[in-house]
Formats: sequence, C-alpha cells, structure tokens
Amino acid sequence: MAIQRPKGTQDLLPGAVEQWQYLEDTIRSVCREYGYEEIRTPMFEATELFQRGVGQTTDIVQKEMYTFLDKGDRSMTLRPEGTASVCRAYVENKLHGQPQPVKLYYMGPMFRYERPQSGRFRQFHQFGVEVLGADQPLVDAEVISLVWNLYQRLGLTQLEVHVNSVGCPVCRAKHREQLQEFLASRRNELCKDCQERFERNPLRILDCKNLSCQAVTSGAPTTHDTLCQDCSTHFERVLALLDVAGVVYRVNPRLVRGLDYYTKTAFEVMVEEIGAQSAICGGGRYDGLVEEIGGPPTPGIGFAMGIERVLTALQVQHKLPEEKTGLFAMLIALGEKAQNEGFSLLGALRAQGMPVNMDLQGRNLKAQLKAANRQSARYALILGEEELERNMLLIRDLTLGEQSEVPLVKAVEELNKKYQRGV
Ligand code: ATP
Ligand code: MG
Repeated sequence: MAIQRPKGTQDLLPGAVEQWQYLEDTIRSVCREYGYEEIRTPMFEATELFQRGVGQTTDIVQKEMYTFLDKGDRSMTLRPEGTASVCRAYVENKLHGQPQPVKLYYMGPMFRYERPQSGRFRQFHQFGVEVLGADQPLVDAEVISLVWNLYQRLGLTQLEVHVNSVGCPVCRAKHREQLQEFLASRRNELCKDCQERFERNPLRILDCKNLSCQAVTSGAPTTHDTLCQDCSTHFERVLALLDVAGVVYRVNPRLVRGLDYYTKTAFEVMVEEIGAQSAICGGGRYDGLVEEIGGPPTPGIGFAMGIERVLTALQVQHKLPEEKTGLFAMLIALGEKAQNEGFSLLGALRAQGMPVNMDLQGRNLKAQLKAANRQSARYALILGEEELERNMLLIRDLTLGEQSEVPLVKAVEELNKKYQRGV
C-alpha cells in the first residue's frame, strides 16, 4: 500500500501555495510598516521549555504535545506554539541588553496532537508577534491594531474582536477564590475536564466549550469584578487607544486564555462564517513568562494567528486575488542545435527576470504548442532548423494569434521590451 501523509497534516500543492504566499507577503508588509522584525527559532525545543512556558495545567501540555526522547535520551518536543521559544531566544541571546522594547514576529508550522477536524490540524501554521520589554497600554493597543489592520488590508469582514483584562497575579488570586466559591456547590455538574480544572486552573472553566459547563458558569464572577486599580487603569487606557486606532471591538468579561502566563490584556478575533473553529487570532499580555523560564523580569505581549483559518475566511468571503499563472514565454526548440541555442537564450531571458519555460522532453511542434497554451504562456518562441539557419527567432503572440520574427541577437532586448510593457 502506498504510504500516506500523517493524519492532521496537509500537502500544499501549486495553486494553493500561491494563496499562502499572498497571505505571507501581506503579513510581512504589515509587520515592516509597524517596525516588527522576523525571528526564526527551532522547530523543536527541550520539553521543559513548554512545560514551564506554556504551563503544566494547559491542554497543550497535558495532552497535545509531540514529545519524544532523542538518541541522547533528552526529552524534546515539537513546538506547539511560538511564544515560549521567542522568550527563550530573547533571554538566551540577551536581547534584553538591546534598546527596549524588542518587537518581533514569526511565521511557521506548529504541532499539536489534536483530533483533526475542519480548522483543526496536527501540523498547522501560525503567524505571531511578540513585544518584549514594555508594559505600557500603548504597546497592547499597537499589537491589537496591527492584527486588526492586517485583516482590513486583506479585506476580511464580519470580524469580532473580543477584549478583556484578566488582571495581575494579585487580582487573579482574588478572582480565583470568588470563582471557586461560586462553583463549589455545582461542581459535580461540570464536565470531567472542568472538575479537574476546579483545583488546578478554575479560570479555564469559564473557557470550556461544553454547553453544560457554560450553563453552570453563567453569572459567575468575571475577572473584571476583581481588577485592582492598576490593572483597571491599564485596561481603560488600552480601550481608549483602540478607539483612537479605529479598532472595532467588544469588551467580553468572560474571555480568558488557556495559558497560565497571561496577565492584564487578553483578546481574541473570531469570524463566525468559518464554522465551529471560528477563532482566527488569540493573544494577550504575559508579564510573568520571561521570568518563569529563567530570564530577568520582563513584560511581554503578543498574539498568534492561525494561517489556515484566515485562509478559510478569505476563501469564504471571496477575498483571495485571482490566480495568475504568469508564464511569459514558452520556448519551442526543434532539433538538437536549436535546443542548444534555445537553452542559452532561455538563460539570458531568465537572467533578466522573465518567467520562461521550454519543453524538456523533445516533443514535436504541435505537442509543444499545446504545452505552451496549457501553461497560459503569452508568447511561443519558436526556433526551428529553418529559423536557426537565418539566425532568426519566431515570436508568436498566443493571445492575439499574431507572429513576427526578430534576429536572434536582438531577441533578449525585444522580449524584454514587451515584458516591461506588460504585453
Ligand atoms: P482553540 O480554542 O481553537 O483550540 P487555542 O486557544 O488552542 O485555539 P492558540 O493556542 O491561542 O489557540 O493559537 C492561536 C490560533 O492558532 C488560534 O486562534 C487558531 O486560529 C490557531 N490554531 C490553534 N490550534 C490550531 C489547530 N490545531 N489547527 C489549526 N489552527 C489552530
Ligand atoms: Mg486548542
């Protein structure tokens, strides 16, 4: 039996890849405009990094990690997310010694052992940004407005931006107590996972997708109710700046993030049209994380966006640009001598940046012309024995059906002129 790709992974073939490139290019432009620089970290890390950086109590660490022993008996994990690695790199490369804040972005595959379904894969891709070394509300607002403006640039509509503050460890402790008190009497009505969360991470119960849990938690104290003065002032300022930036958002006091290290601002972006997996971006402030993984106390904030889900939203909303194949010319060489001459001409055209192809299988004229049409080439460049004898090249315009001849020595110049004019 032929070997198949692993469950929850995808092959991205030509045709689909162009859509990815369009999204990636747009992301890179927006990041450049906002002054964020790219960072690339390893695809696997010491398991302990994620245990500490993502948090022992999270679903990711509890059940979703691809963990293995390498041949030296070290426990390694394929990265399930990007933030912990970026923070490790910040500490390890002493980026805290540079002017602060450090504004970084990353893009690439992440790995989680999840039940594959629409919008949920085992290898998926995230674009994310992290700002390290600044705790001002302006930073929070910049990060949220970056992703908001990316979505505007892409033309996405029907966006729901939810914003909340989960507070600092001081207000969190107070909230935890109130929440446990509220839930205590109905603890046995919660799902099995949430019953476990009750002690470990009760905040996560507010985030449970189970309808029966949602019924129990409706009316539960929110993180909002216990915000300290400092966190509350910070939050109000973030909201005011989001108004200035024109971000359309909704304050959602029930929004919590699954990760332990989040403090203050938390946010999520949803597009309902793409189905049950509607979250296309999640993020927030994590002022405790860098210290957690052994670095100096450093405030941080960031988000991660699911590339596959954004592409689905763009498809559903018909916002992807028309596919263009873009082959400028197909060289048709007949016979070995013509092949030599043509091969050399092709090199010269490519060196000038023109996308050109030639037949690689020694087919006849008719078959080669067919191939030129199939690849939507604008021109066929025909070099037969007869043309070669006269040192001429026949240029056939496949759109207009016209043809003309140019001396071979002038071919590059002539074709470049057409290419520059876009005809
Ligand atoms: P979810 O609630 O959908 O599991 P999450 O809270 O686990 O999301 P994050 O860890 O915040 O997600 O990741 C940020 C974004 O990455 C999500 O909003 C989503 O768009 C995307 N994402 C997360 N897990 C997957 C996955 N398994 N497949 C595809 N995209 C994913
Ligand atoms: Mg998840």
